[in-house]
Amino acid sequence: MRRIGLARGPELFLYSFPEPHPLNRIRLEAFYQKIDSEGKELQGLLFVEPEKAGKGDVTLFHTPSYVEFVEERCRVGRGYLDYGDTPAFPGCFEAASYVVGTTLKLLRMILSGEISAGFNPMGGLHHARRDRAGGFCIFNDAGVAIEYLLRRENIRNVAYVDIDAHHGDGVCYDFYSEKRVIFADIHQDGRTLYPGTGFRNETGEGEARGTKLNIPLMPYSGDEEFFQAFQEVEQFLEKHEFDFLLLQCGADGLMGDPLTNLQYSAKAHSYAASRLLKIAEKKCGGRILAMGGGGYDPVNVAHAWTAVVKAFAEQG
Ligand SMILES: [Zn+2]
Repeated sequence: MRRIGLARGPELFLYSFPEPHPLNRIRLEAFYQKIDSEGKELQGLLFVEPEKAGKGDVTLFHTPSYVEFVEERCRVGRGYLDYGDTPAFPGCFEAASYVVGTTLKLLRMILSGEISAGFNPMGGLHHARRDRAGGFCIFNDAGVAIEYLLRRENIRNVAYVDIDAHHGDGVCYDFYSEKRVIFADIHQDGRTLYPGTGFRNETGEGEARGTKLNIPLMPYSGDEEFFQAFQEVEQFLEKHEFDFLLLQCGADGLMGDPLTNLQYSAKAHSYAASRLLKIAEKKCGGRILAMGGGGYDPVNVAHAWTAVVKAFAEQG
């Protein structure tokens, strides 16, 4: 039977910006409540305790000077880590380190065969760049995970699929010339939403040209547009070889999200997760790790991410 590792523990709630910031612990609580209420249907689910990453892991992706800057700002405990989206708060360094460490823990459990798929709902902090914070993201756990796979595990290629409403700029541009990172991202058009990037003509550079796929959708796009775009993602993945599949499944593309203008239902997440699991089984021994990402309506978050866990649990 497939075993699905779901990260869970009080340490993940530490990554919560002070009210009235939209990224706070309420959304995560709503998700675990739904998981608990549907527990019987979710066979093979294993709760995995969070783990804190050491600086040596964080600096696989981030520059040492940026990591020091976050540590320093954390001691001060106020002000911003960027130009105004990502506040510093007491304990933010530790909180961000837990997000990274937990993603890495699930990754290692998948590699060792202890679990067949994993989900870190607090992960997917895809806007953080190597040397700076951005868009509520302090450390980019997806970026660290990719570096870990390429450098520590000698994995040949990594595929990263991002269905958050916002473009995953931190992963796209910080691996833009890395041909071993197969990147596909469906998001709301950059002319209408933060971070203002992720256009069709952005396909990677140098020897990595053709390894990046950006699909912007117009505001108010719904499931139909998503499914169509996802077909293109599947064709793109089909063309490439990879040994590990990462999914950033931000829930902020669901209708009613206070920060975006997309109108998906949770079917988008269910579909993406089950299709990607099939692709992972065909291409890379079923190794797939999902990370939560955005989503600012707690009911939507609970629906979308429970759909991902169910899709992973039901197959196989
Ligand atoms: Zn987002």
